[in-house]
Amino acid sequence: MAVVLSRRVILIAASAQLAVSAAALPFPAFHPFLAGVLFPAPALLACAVALRAANCAPGRYRLGWLLMSVMLGAWAAVELYFGYYALVLRYEAPFPGPADAFYYAGYAALIGAVATFAFTGRGLVDYRTWADAAAVTIVAAAFWWHFLVEPRFEDGTSLAALVGIGYPILDLAVIVGLVVALYSARDHTNPRMLLLVASVSATIAADAGYSLVGQETVASATVLDLGWQAGYWLLALAAVSPPSRPALVRPLEGQSVAGLLLPYAAVSPLVLFAGYLAWQGQLHLPLAIAAVLAAAFLVLRQWFTLVDNRHLYRQVAANAEELQHALQEQQRLRAEAQHLADHDDLTGLLNRRAWIARAREHASLAVTILDIDHFKAVNDRHGHFAGDEVLCAVAQRLEQLYAGSGVVGRLGGEEFGVLVARPLAEAVALAERAILLFAEDPVCTRRGTVIPVTLSAGVASWQAHAADPLAASHQLADARLFTAKRGGRARVVSAPGLVA
Ligand code: GH3
Ligand code: MG
Ligand code: MG
Repeated sequence: MAVVLSRRVILIAASAQLAVSAAALPFPAFHPFLAGVLFPAPALLACAVALRAANCAPGRYRLGWLLMSVMLGAWAAVELYFGYYALVLRYEAPFPGPADAFYYAGYAALIGAVATFAFTGRGLVDYRTWADAAAVTIVAAAFWWHFLVEPRFEDGTSLAALVGIGYPILDLAVIVGLVVALYSARDHTNPRMLLLVASVSATIAADAGYSLVGQETVASATVLDLGWQAGYWLLALAAVSPPSRPALVRPLEGQSVAGLLLPYAAVSPLVLFAGYLAWQGQLHLPLAIAAVLAAAFLVLRQWFTLVDNRHLYRQVAANAEELQHALQEQQRLRAEAQHLADHDDLTGLLNRRAWIARAREHASLAVTILDIDHFKAVNDRHGHFAGDEVLCAVAQRLEQLYAGSGVVGRLGGEEFGVLVARPLAEAVALAERAILLFAEDPVCTRRGTVIPVTLSAGVASWQAHAADPLAASHQLADARLFTAKRGGRARVVSAPGLVA
């Protein structure tokens, strides 16, 4: 069945059936054939595929399609009943008669099906949708009632009149259900949904025509039958179309422009029509009330939108504030990361990389390299932690000493570099002052151990003429430091020539 009743097959069969029916309509001789053979076929076929759709559908969709198949079954029975009268008995079926009972039963199932589909969607998600659905429903109901239901009250209270008036009222119930179903649909562009709407619309349109011309004139096959036939075909197509799948990621909810305009487009004609009648001096109270009510729902919807906008604005403002905080925090973290990357974690001085970068950014006048003498012995004698304390003390004193006149960095274990912003002579004096500082005041650890510290230093003037001034200055100062070490330590060397 899956292969035989594909969408394409149904489409071809529908086109053929509708074309043949339309072509045969002008010839009354063919009418018994149309009513007896062609007209029952689509309803029967749609009933079968709706049953199959019910079988495959999950949850409430199953109930919806079951009710649809009940409706189609009941109406197919009516088509067969009329067909029997037309083809075999060759006279018209009575009205009202058993056919109406089946029609009414079909309507009950159709209303149930539409309601089931309406409640199977996401529901009317917010107040705005409620207001929109209410406005559109009121307009549709008002017009339907005014043009199709009310005039039939004039038919009197005979059984035929009462049975006749039931049809547009039932259609009205279907319309209400359809509006709610449309507003609560999860996916308006789903082919199944569109075909369902098209099918019910075709049926209702044919019914409207039927109500307008009166059933006595449509006893044999007419163009209205094509509307019902199209309704069956469209329903069959809907039943074989793939069902909508709930999206894994639900897109941001928002109304389409058409969705936004629909209530205004629907309410305006009613307001204009009721106003026109009033202007003509024929104030029609029910229509006027309906127009005021529908307009009130529009105003309500506007109000909901304003409230929504206010809420959104606040949310945007809160988000912006949050973003601002996040940015500040990010800046703080970045600065912290930069500080960690540039500084030695023990002494807090610039590390070698950052010290070199600083030297390349700002030219100095001299470079001094200081190294703690026999530091290994300090570690060996007092322990590594005491050694650390000595390193920190040296770092701190050097920073104090060179504050404003040089940039101190920890170049390696117990070796410190200073970019001195003073001429060589002053740089030498500063280095000597550093050595003197420790000679006068040994380092005292937290545990109270007094550790004498001496430093050796090599000082070089800034080698501005060299291809790499920093490398040249550093190399020269390093060589002089080596000379100081070899010369007995605890001294400053600032000129070449001293030989061990
Ligand atoms: P010299 O007078 O020739 O400079 O001798 P020295 O002992 O100071 O030099 P050497 O290069 O032989 O030893 C340096 C020592 O510094 C070795 C190493 O254990 C120690 N050291 C390096 N970094 C640290 C540190 O972060 N903390 C401690 N406590 N010791 C360190
Ligand atoms: Mg040393
Ligand atoms: Mg060293």
